[in-house]
Amino acid sequence: MAQCARCGGELEERFRFCPWCAQPQRKKIVEFFSPHPRDAGKALRITRYLTEDPHIRFSVWNESGVAEGAVSLDEREAGRVARFLRPVTRQASLLDVARRAAGRRRPRTRSRTGECR
Ligand SMILES: [Zn+2]
Repeated sequence: MAQCARCGGELEERFRFCPWCAQPQRKKIVEFFSPHPRDAGKALRITRYLTEDPHIRFSVWNESGVAEGAVSLDEREAGRVARFLRPVTRQASLLDVARRAAGRRRPRTRSRTGECR
């Protein structure tokens, strides 16, 4: 068991943050992201530095495990990247909104007898 330097709470070594006081337990957090098939063999590594100068570093790694390039962004700009990468969702049409409000998913259909269902 590890111990939080801030509050003294016990925590597991793998924890990134203290569950008792939210103190970061690491100076950096690293994630690797798989490429699109057209860039097979490469990887995107994103490192979040939890230092007095917080920033996020994006680096592209090749098949040999060498970083080909990197750029660091501040927290605000990295947040803009996160918003840019959100999945694109289709805008609901006014008709969709009206149908949802009316509790219907499909337009009314007429039965053989001519009644609305
Ligand atoms: Zn703590």
